[in-house]
Amino acid sequence: MNTSHPFRKKWGQNFLADQNLLDKIVRTIAPTEKDSILEIGPGEGALTERMLPKAGDMVAVEIDPMLIDHLNNHLILNRCTFIHGDILNQDIDNLPIKNPVRVMGNIPYNITSPIIFWLIEQLDFWDDAFLMVQKEVAERLIANSGTKQYSRITVMVGVYLDIELCFNIPPEVFIPRPKVSSSFIRFTKKNTPLVPDDKYEKFYKVVKAAFSQRRKMLRNTLKGFTFNDGVEENINFSRRPETLTLEEFASLV
Ligand code: SAH
Repeated sequence: MNTSHPFRKKWGQNFLADQNLLDKIVRTIAPTEKDSILEIGPGEGALTERMLPKAGDMVAVEIDPMLIDHLNNHLILNRCTFIHGDILNQDIDNLPIKNPVRVMGNIPYNITSPIIFWLIEQLDFWDDAFLMVQKEVAERLIANSGTKQYSRITVMVGVYLDIELCFNIPPEVFIPRPKVSSSFIRFTKKNTPLVPDDKYEKFYKVVKAAFSQRRKMLRNTLKGFTFNDGVEENINFSRRPETLTLEEFASLV
């Protein structure tokens, strides 16, 4: 670990410093030489270094110019292409790597949602994605309907992606130590999204309104919308948002 590097809070830098955990992450992703790997936020390359010997092509996007210099000067990393930039501005199709890629990242927690929505935008160009997220966020993403954790993000993400909890991680394995526990999770794509692209805009608004006051009945929160014939017969609008399954939410639009 290059301790001369000043940690940049604004870029959510919490580096992984536990050899066993790094190995466990690589075992979980189980890369093969056929895989194109896209890493988000390689930092000093702790994960990159362990993935490279097992992976095929590899590209990593890092926002911090000082880290890019460090990575480019690290001989054992020279099979990986480093791109200086913001992951949220990248199109996977334009990166120097064949797609679909497998995505992985120990990402900054303050941009977890934007990165997940970026993955949804880039759906055609990846196969699976492994992300480190705050434990509470993982709990929301994998929540079943009818639970307290089931929320707007569960529904918005769940209609496109399936999410699997790989394992939880305590704060101690990071430098500097974050205040929260973490979870390593895997995203795969649903064969067919539950909401077609042309209905996304209405879906977004309906879900947002439904969860704006989760203790209220849909009848009240969805007052301003018009629904197709049959919708209000099939779904009882005296229900609260967290009781609707993903499929029921999708059937509203
Ligand atoms: N993967 C490394 C570092 C994790 S810290 C490790 O596990 O040790 C998160 C990394 O993401 C930092 O290197 C940070 O500079 C980088 N980063 C933050 N915002 C980013 C963005 N928008 N696009 C790409 N990288 C980003």
